[in-house]
Amino acid sequence: MKVGCHVSIAGGIVNAPQRAAELGCEVFQMFTRSPQGGKAPEITTEISKQFKEEMKKWGQDNCYIHAPYYINFASSSKAIRSASARVVREELERGSLINAKYVMFHPGSAKEMDRKEALKITAEGMAKVMNGYDGSTELLLEISAGAGNVMGDTFEELAEIIKLSGYDLGICLDSAHIFASGYDIKSKEGFQKTVEIIKKTVGLEKIQLIHANDSKIELGGRKDRHDHIGDGKIGESGFANLVVVFNCDFIAETKDDKVREDIKVLKNTRFGKKA
Ligand SMILES: [Zn+2]
Ligand SMILES: [Zn+2]
Repeated sequence: MKVGCHVSIAGGIVNAPQRAAELGCEVFQMFTRSPQGGKAPEITTEISKQFKEEMKKWGQDNCYIHAPYYINFASSSKAIRSASARVVREELERGSLINAKYVMFHPGSAKEMDRKEALKITAEGMAKVMNGYDGSTELLLEISAGAGNVMGDTFEELAEIIKLSGYDLGICLDSAHIFASGYDIKSKEGFQKTVEIIKKTVGLEKIQLIHANDSKIELGGRKDRHDHIGDGKIGESGFANLVVVFNCDFIAETKDDKVREDIKVLKNTRFGKKA
């Protein structure tokens, strides 16, 4: 288990590894393009080479890419669904150029669409992303916080989407999202129940990355509001629970003012881990 946070790419992706190291990261996450939209800046051979050198120089083991926020595989607009598939595929290809380990994305929101239909088209979109892809960067579905008609806010639904897609995709578990979706991770008993649900649905081995965020929202509050580790409704006990079961990397997506602190807390939590 390595610890890091989401890092800005201001001035270009080649600046990210140094920025990550200065925040105390061992691994980190970034966007490779504006999360709000627009054409992606090209990753040239030179940039890719430089990026890899910077990764080594600043002791960063892995980097992860968050897909842009406008992705929506459950949109009723075919154009939006196609663009979503194209952009996520681009991120996988771009990730492969710089040896990023994973790209994670939020499946989207279905508005008034019938749930079954929404699951089907979401899975179709993901199959479209993966069809013929032979790069090294792997795709992860991120569990949502359960606000409105978002897709993939339960482990049952993620299992269903993965099955329908026909591709063996992994999952990015965001602690704030699952807590807001009603999965207790704070208490020992609640966490045990959550682990049992994960085992019965997607399987524990599917969880390949943790977004380690505390939550300003109470259990089952169905809203996505990150808080600093220990300051929110989950509390440090929840993260101590997580590190015992999940051996993957932990990435904080908290505000800059205290993210350095969050990384420290997560590193310390790791030392409490049972062998
Ligand atoms: Zn996310
Ligand atoms: Zn979130």
